[in-house]
Amino acid sequence: MVKTSLQDPSPPGSFNALFEQTRDLVLLARYPGGEIISANPSALTAFGKNLLTARPVLESLPVPEQRGAFKKVLKEVGEEGQTAHFSGRLRRTDSSSFHSEMDIRKVAPDIWLATIHDISERVRALEDIELRNIAIANVTSGVTVADARLPDQPLIYVNKGFQEITGYSAREAVGRNCRFLQGRDRDQPDLDKLREALRVGRACIVQLRNYRKDGSQFINELHISPVHNEEGELTHFVGIQLNVTEQVEARKSLERSEARYRQALEQEKELNEIKTRFISMVSHEFRTPMTGIMASAALLKKFGDRLEADKKDRHLANIATSLKRMNRLLDDVLFFSRAESGKLQVERRPVALAEYLPALMESLSLVYPDREVTLDLRLEPPASFMLDEHLLDHILQNLIGNAIKYSPPGSVVTCQLREDTEWLILDVSDEGIGIPLKDQDKLFEAFHRADNVGQQHGTGLGLNIVRRAVELLEGDIRFTSREGSGSTFTVRLPKIPSNNDKQ
Ligand code: ADP
Repeated sequence: MVKTSLQDPSPPGSFNALFEQTRDLVLLARYPGGEIISANPSALTAFGKNLLTARPVLESLPVPEQRGAFKKVLKEVGEEGQTAHFSGRLRRTDSSSFHSEMDIRKVAPDIWLATIHDISERVRALEDIELRNIAIANVTSGVTVADARLPDQPLIYVNKGFQEITGYSAREAVGRNCRFLQGRDRDQPDLDKLREALRVGRACIVQLRNYRKDGSQFINELHISPVHNEEGELTHFVGIQLNVTEQVEARKSLERSEARYRQALEQEKELNEIKTRFISMVSHEFRTPMTGIMASAALLKKFGDRLEADKKDRHLANIATSLKRMNRLLDDVLFFSRAESGKLQVERRPVALAEYLPALMESLSLVYPDREVTLDLRLEPPASFMLDEHLLDHILQNLIGNAIKYSPPGSVVTCQLREDTEWLILDVSDEGIGIPLKDQDKLFEAFHRADNVGQQHGTGLGLNIVRRAVELLEGDIRFTSREGSGSTFTVRLPKIPSNNDKQ
């Protein structure tokens, strides 16, 4: 047991016990000299056992640099005769020091009583907290604390990083629920995740589109952690905000370039496929009329002088028809390749349809000499419109050609042209094989041919060309068809009367 040297004056009974047992350091000193005359066990432990042997004066306890301030305090006690307070570092006899808070009081005319709390632990804890506060305040990420117990869980702290990321000052942000950062952009899937986590008090990480004070957008990666007190009650949410806009943008642009690369690869593949199909189609489609021409030419050469006149004419007509078909085929091939390379242009000129259409029928009858097409013109005279004859040729030749090709000889093919206030409307109808439902979606794709075409020759390019020509003329095309009962293709072209008509 530590023996105290409390000699003069002796603390009375209960005070003595208090003096002995308190964890505070208690000293009795002589007034006014300050010689220490008694110390309790706690004081002896703190200052060192030789405190009393050394008998320093009270004044010498603080570290040298604080003695001036301490002297002033002692003076107050002397003059006023009341308790004075000193807060500072005290020196142990081994020269180490500790933080203290000291109350000094005169308890007898010539006795001072000094009660000292060793607050080193508290100061260390405060320094620790201070250090952490500095760290939190200065990280570049946003740090926020929301009070989970207040209605609508308002922010009670935001650090500098938050203010830099959002542009809102602490004064503008504190007291508000963090949702003001979303502005009106409330339709975000991660918001549901966040709401649910806040509701049940769970940690979560979400990415939100947030808006700075100046209205500009940033992607906020928000890390939320709940804080519970000792009773397990949810008290706060700590939020860490990271501005990940650049990372998200970089990822998106990487994904975009990957997608572009994949698309380019796909296009390349598609293009190669088109080329292959194109070459095989062209060689096949050209071979048939060429074979016909060669056969007729060979016959004419061999038996020309012996053939009857009408047979000779038939062979010559056959050669002419085949050449016409080859010519049309070449036309289609050229149109298609120019369309693919984006070289097609519209050149509108006045076209008098009442003259143009019969002339076109005439030229078609050379390609299909054994078929007749009924032309039904329902136009108000004078009917001259701004159209591109070349594109019109492609539209009509292909639609009428198909109607003839895919319907039996003797059946009726009708071409009707009418107008309404805005459009020129062209219907090409036949009573032919029709188009199976399963092919109807793909009919305008290049090279697509329906299953029911049988032996009928074709390239699968015609309707693709028609669609492109119609689009160039800013019109549209649709069709109705039932397999086995015929088809009707309807083209609408904007009605632009030529200047001649307007006058
Ligand atoms: P094709 O050279 O094969 O006629 P198109 O592009 O003109 O090529 O037509 C594509 C396909 O659409 C044809 O192969 C055919 O299956 C179908 N088709 C087009 N027009 C008609 C029609 N009037 N009647 C029936 N089928 C048609």
